[in-house]
Formats: sequence, C-alpha cells, structure tokens
Amino acid sequence: MSGDGKDIRIGVYVCWCGGNISDVVDVEKVVNVIKNEEGVIVARHFMFMCSEAGQKMIENDIKTHNLNAVVVASCSPKLHELTFRNTVLRAGINPYMYYHANIREQVSWAHSDSKEEATKKAIRHIRMAIAYLRHAEPLEKIKVEATPAVLIIGGGVTGLRAAIDLARAGVNVYLVEKEPFLGGHVARLGETYPSGRPGWELVSRLIDELLKHDNVAIYTKATVERVEGYIGNFDVTIKVSPRYFVKNCERIEEAISRCNKRVPDEWSYGVKTRTPILLPPYPGAYPRIPALDMKACGGDKCMECLEPCKDAVDLAMQEQVIKLKVGAVITATGFNPYEPSEGEFGYKQYPYVITLPQFNSILKESGNGKLVVNGKEVKSLAFIYCVGSRQREGRTYCSRYCCNATIYAALLVAKKFPGVKQYHFYRDIRTYGKNELMYEQASRSGAVFIKYPEEEPPKVTAENGSLLVRSRDLLTEGLTIDVSVDLVVLVTGMVPRNNKDLNELLKLPLGKDGFYQEVHPKLRPVETTLSGFLIAGTAQGPKDTLESLSSGSAAAAKAGGIVLKRIIELEPFRAFVDPDKCELTRQCVAECPYMAISVKNYEGKGEKAWVNPAICKGCGACVAVCPNNAIQIKGLTNDQVVDMIKAAAREV
Ligand code: SF4
Ligand code: SF4
Ligand code: SF4
Repeated sequence: MSGDGKDIRIGVYVCWCGGNISDVVDVEKVVNVIKNEEGVIVARHFMFMCSEAGQKMIENDIKTHNLNAVVVASCSPKLHELTFRNTVLRAGINPYMYYHANIREQVSWAHSDSKEEATKKAIRHIRMAIAYLRHAEPLEKIKVEATPAVLIIGGGVTGLRAAIDLARAGVNVYLVEKEPFLGGHVARLGETYPSGRPGWELVSRLIDELLKHDNVAIYTKATVERVEGYIGNFDVTIKVSPRYFVKNCERIEEAISRCNKRVPDEWSYGVKTRTPILLPPYPGAYPRIPALDMKACGGDKCMECLEPCKDAVDLAMQEQVIKLKVGAVITATGFNPYEPSEGEFGYKQYPYVITLPQFNSILKESGNGKLVVNGKEVKSLAFIYCVGSRQREGRTYCSRYCCNATIYAALLVAKKFPGVKQYHFYRDIRTYGKNELMYEQASRSGAVFIKYPEEEPPKVTAENGSLLVRSRDLLTEGLTIDVSVDLVVLVTGMVPRNNKDLNELLKLPLGKDGFYQEVHPKLRPVETTLSGFLIAGTAQGPKDTLESLSSGSAAAAKAGGIVLKRIIELEPFRAFVDPDKCELTRQCVAECPYMAISVKNYEGKGEKAWVNPAICKGCGACVAVCPNNAIQIKGLTNDQVVDMIKAAAREV
C-alpha cells in the first residue's frame, strides 16, 4: 500500500444491530450510495455484523475480492473495533487498514427522531471512513522491552500490600518511604474495627511478610528526585537522607534522657513531644534501629546526648544518591488529616478542642478508669462531624472513613470510660456496609446524636471553664440545644498529601479535589493517563484501610501486568517528524505535555526534533503548533484529517 489511495480496495459493511441501527437508518439506501464511492469494491448490510456469520462474510469478501481495507459501520469502536481488527487480520489484512464508523451511538441512537437525517449522517460517517482509508498505511504496534522491576512510592499499608503482591509474583520491588519508619497512618491507630486489634499489628504483619522476600529493597528517609523514560523503562534517582544510627544502642533511653530538645511528635499528631532521637514507634516497625532527626537537633551538639550510643551512631554519614531502573511506578503516598484553621469550631483557640486523630492518639494511651486530656479529667465530650468535609466549595467531598472512625472511638469510650457522656453533632452518618452495626451499637450505648443543618453548623464557645456547643437539632424539629462539655473532638477528614515536589516531578494528573486522578473510577481505577504510572490508596482519594489494601493489590496487579510481559505492545498512533521539513523551531518540544519530544542528530540532516514513540500519547498538540507541518501523527495524518473533513461536508 502506498498511502495515496490509488490501489485501495475497500469493503464496506453496514450493520443493522438487530434493529438498533436499521430501525432508524435506511441501511439499504446507505449501501446503494456508498457502493459508488471511489475505491469501494464491495458494500453490504447485515443483521449482526459481529456474529460469526458476519465476520465470516467479511473474511470471505477480503479473499474473494482481494480487498486491502475494510470499514464496518456499526456500534461504538469501544465495543467492537478490536473484534473487527482481528477479523481482517485473520483474512490477511493489516489491522490498521480498518476503520470503525460509529453509526449506532452517534447516529441511530442520537437521531431516532429523524430517519432521513440519520441516514444522511450515516452516509457521511462512512464517507469519512473511506477518506481515512484512502490515505492509510499498514502500521505495526510499537514494541518496548520492560524492566521487571517496580518503584513504589509510599510505605503505608497500600504501598506495603502492593510490594508484597509484586514480590510474590517475582518482580523486583523498590519501596521508597520519606519518613524514618514504614507504616503510615494505620500504624498510628489504636484499636481498629472489627478485630479490636491495634493498627500497628496489621502493619507489622505486612512488614514481616515483605521482609521474607529477597527481591525487595526498602529505602526510608528517602525521596524520589528524578524519573525519566517511558513505560517499561524508567530511570529513577532517589535520595536517601542519613539516618545516623547504624545499629541499635542498649543505652538509648539514657541518651534520650540527656536530650532537652523537644519538638511536636508527629506519631501522636502533636499530642506529645519528642526528642530528635526517634525510636522505632511500634513493635515490628521497620527499620528496627533508631534514627536521628538532625534538623530537630540543631546539628553540632548531638554527640553530647548521644555519647552513651557513640558506637551505634555515625554522624559523618552522608546523603546517598541511588539510581534505579524500573518498568512501572506506583504512587501510594497517602493523605494528610485535615488541619482546621485557627478558631474553626474553637480549634487552637481553646485547649480542649482537638481533632479526631489527636483524640484517637490519646485514647490509645489511656488505660481504663479516667479519660484524661491535657491533665484534666473528661466527663463529657462532643464530637462535631464533617469538619473540613462536604463543603459547598473547596473540599466538597466526603472523607468516608471519619464517621466510622468516630463511631468506633465512641464505642471505645463507652467501654473504657462508661461514665463519660457523649454527644455527636452530625450532618449525616455514613457508616456504610458492615459498619452500620457499629452505629446501632453506639446508639444503644447511650451516645446522644444531634443532627445539625448543613447551613448552620454548631458553634463552640467557652463558658465557666467548660466548652459550650450550641446547635439546632433537626431530630427535635430544629430546636436549639446547648450542651456543656469538657472536650470537643473535631471529626476531620482526609486532604491530599502536600506532594508539591513529587507532583512537579511525576506530573500525575490531579482531580479537582487535589487527589491523584485515575483514568476511570470503575473501568481503570488505578491507572493514570501517563503510561506506566499507577496510583493507589488514599493518594487517590479518601479510603478506609480495607479499601486501601484492595487498591494496593489492584495497582500491583496492573504493574505486574506491565513488567512481567517483558515486551510491551503499544498502539502505533504516535507523532513522527519529517526531518526534511523540520527547522528545529522547538515549538513542538515546548508544547508536548508528556515531554516526548527531544532533539536528535539525523545523519546528513543535522539536529531536528525527534519523538520518542514510547512516551508519545498521540494527543496531537505538537501537530497543531508546528509551522512547517513537519510533525504528524501516524494513523491520523494531516491528509487523512483534511480529506475526512471534506468527505463530511459533501452533499448527500
Ligand atoms: Fe462527614 Fe461522615 Fe463523610 Fe466524614 S465520613 S465527611 S463525618 S459524612
Ligand atoms: Fe521541527 Fe515543527 Fe517541531 Fe519546529 S515545531 S522543531 S519545525 S517539528
Ligand atoms: Fe507529545 Fe502529543 Fe505530540 Fe505525542 S502527539 S509528541 S504526546 S504533543
């Protein structure tokens, strides 16, 4: 095939789709018009083109009439384009010498009110398909070799789950965590529903499982600095900050007691303070040696406190730069808990207004008997739900997990401190699935539920040493209720992790809410528009632990599917440069959103633009800006587009 349309021999097949198409489109008329188009050798209509009989008819025609291109006018290409590409391939035609004209979704379904106009539109669609094929050339899929390794960014439960699944499948895994220890938010949780087991137990089981595999490398205090390349072949640079501890120290408590520096303890969401010496924060934490937070320490004086551990510490330790090669990247960087602004429901204005993560941290440490917060016994408390969630503007989404987490906290309070009165100021309770049982249990345990209107959230003020929560209650016909409590817990949701540097580096698409955006929430829930980049867990949006684990497994399955194939096949619709026309204006280089274009020396022609077909998405942005028509898309050239437009404009 030359691509100039001279020796084209096209077969056109118009499908009735039962009556889905033929009840609206006059298929007989369509075929009668189309069979006279230049290059068309045979044109037919048939009841079900995708049936075995329909496909056989096409195959026979290809052989009998020596066809070299085929149009099927039927349903959406999403449904059967691949079916018919395979049909023509079986009969010996290159599958890209095929065009799928959609005359069901775009014609008969869209214009069922006018048979005549629908028939005309179907003819136009098919004429466009013929115009496309007259300039088409046989194409081959692009094949790239894949490195059988995956980079996972984030060492919380999602990243750990993904790492285990991939390691089990025989894939080399590099797990990168920026904190000094693995575990994320789940490791900080106290008792969890429904097992009643602490969050760290789950994390440490995952870590134990991961450590059984020798094809896993774990880097903590590590950040990703560079990712270059394309699906199957990424060159990654990571930076590992020094930990300073090289082994455990028997006299670590003595070293800690010598240190008088204190900073807020992230592990307890700032409820406690810590020294710059960080101990593994839970049993089974990884790595199993301490770390030194040099920033908190101030640097030069550290050794004075660390003297009892001098054999375990190496202050000369340097930052390490490590280069990795991977075939896919999973981003599982998690979330940040919403931090209310100062004064929001009295937060940071009154010392006894705290957030749910802080309250859970206190609850985790409290024994049975008295609930003590900041040295004061708490005999009554109010939870205010949906703080920072489900707003009219901004964070409009529901964080999904916080109702459940609060109700479970309420049950724990009722169990550990039966005398404490609880008031729940909520907008709606979203304890979906099995968690609904928990809600019922909490209601029966004496917790009082007060439903506040969206437009009138509760107000928190201080009065006589207590906190006063005033709210309307929709359950008692909108009466205003004043409740005096010792503690207010703000039920805060999830917000996107502040990943500015990583976002600039990876350029993963973000949704309106600021979380990473998948291609399709149901059909491609862990894939992004960037080939080879997957997302999982709460980096993608609010999820509970169970959902995060499932999403980690889903991302691992997809990443494994990429790298275990070894050879990845990509569609051929990519940009290409004609070096004879290119004057290296670099407009295309600047325009390409995927950084697929670079400059290359073409033998005898000098430096010109060059497209890496493995990175290119075929979006066409470069084509639009090239002043010389030097860059085009394979399988959708300028000639094809122009002739298709002309065909669409022709009178029927
Ligand atoms: Fe509000 Fe509950 Fe949704 Fe959290 S989960 S945002 S508390 S409705
Ligand atoms: Fe070459 Fe066109 Fe790109 Fe300019 S925009 S560098 S002429 S391909
Ligand atoms: Fe980049 Fe899109 Fe051009 Fe490909 S088609 S090189 S992705 S601008």
